[in-house]
Amino acid sequence: MKEVYTLNDLQSFGRKKLKPPIRLGVFGHPVAHSLSPQMQNAALEKSDLEMRYARFEIAPDELQESVELLRGLDFIGVNLTVPHKIAALALVDEADETARQIGAVNTIKKDKGKLRGFNTDGKGFSRAIREEFSVDLRDLRVLVFGAGGAARAIALECAKENCERLVIANRDPQKANQMVESLRGFFAGPRVLGPVPRLQSIAAEEAALRFQIANTDLVVNATPLGLNHGDAAPIPARLLAPHLMVYDTVYASGPTALISGAIEAGARTASGLSMLLHQGALAFEIWFDRAAPIEAMRKGLTA
Ligand code: NAP
Repeated sequence: MKEVYTLNDLQSFGRKKLKPPIRLGVFGHPVAHSLSPQMQNAALEKSDLEMRYARFEIAPDELQESVELLRGLDFIGVNLTVPHKIAALALVDEADETARQIGAVNTIKKDKGKLRGFNTDGKGFSRAIREEFSVDLRDLRVLVFGAGGAARAIALECAKENCERLVIANRDPQKANQMVESLRGFFAGPRVLGPVPRLQSIAAEEAALRFQIANTDLVVNATPLGLNHGDAAPIPARLLAPHLMVYDTVYASGPTALISGAIEAGARTASGLSMLLHQGALAFEIWFDRAAPIEAMRKGLTA
C-alpha cells in the first residue's frame, strides 16, 4: 500500500485489482499526517474484513470529482478531513440531521447506490470527554474556542446534551455570534444559573476570558492553534486555573502550548486523540452496522 494516494490513483482503481482491495479512505489536504488509516486498518483486521483504508491527498478543486468517482467504485465509504467537510455536504445525495445542523460531513457511506453523509465529530467529542474526565457534557459549563466545523459539531453536541452553560470565543466575533444564534432554541428552557447567561459569544480577549474562567468547567480548543510547533495557545496560560478541565482537539506529537499551560496551572488535560478515536469508531459503526473494536483501534492509534 502507498502512504498517500491521489485523484489519479482513484481514477484507475476500477481497472486495478488490489489485494486486499482499498474500499475505505480519508480525503484531505494535507492528509499525510492523518492517523485514521492506522486506526481503521486495525479495526478492519480485528473484524476480519478483507479490505484496507487509505489516505487520499485531494485538493479542494478535486473534491467533487473524487466524491463522484466513489459512485462507480467498490467503496464502502470515506472520511473527510480539513478542508473538505463543509464542501462535502453539497456533494452527497442525503445528509443526516446532525450533519445538516452542523453544515459539514465527516463520513460518507455508499448505501443502495446513494452517497449518504454523516458527522461523527460531536458524538465523538462527547464520548472523549466522558472517557477522559468521567463527566457528562450536561453537567458542564463549557468554553469553546473556534467557530469552524469542529467547533460547530462540539457546540451542537453540548447544546443537544443540555450542558449547563456554553460560551463561544472566536477570532472573528461575528462567526461566534452566528453560532450562538443558531443554538438559541436549545437553551430556552429554565435552568437557574445565577447572573451569567447560559449561552453567549465573547471576544477572545483577556478581560472577557478572565471573567468567564470563574464560570467555566471545561475549556475546549477547536481551532488549529497547536498544530504547528511554536503556535500560541488560544488562551493565555496565566488565565487558566486548577478547577478546569482542558481539552485540546488538536493532537500533535508533543503537548501543545495550551496543554502545557494547563498542566502548569494544575488543571486536568486531554489531547484530541480520544476524539479522533471515538469519531472514527462511530464512522466504522455507520459503515458496517456493527460495534467498532475500540481497543484494537486505540492500540492502532498509538502503535
Ligand atoms: P475550520 O473550519 O477551518 O475552523 C477553524 C477555526 O479556528 C475558525 O473558527 C478560525 O477562526 C479559528 N482559527 C484558525 N486559525 C486561528 C488562529 N491562528 N488564531 C485563532 N483562531 C484561529 O477548521 P475545523 O474543521 O473546525 O478544525 C479545527 C481544528 O480542530 C483542526 O485543525 C483539528 O486540529 C481539530 N479537529 C480535531 C478532531 C479530532 O478528532 N481530534 C476533529 C476535527 C477537528 P476564524 O473564524 O476567525 O477564521
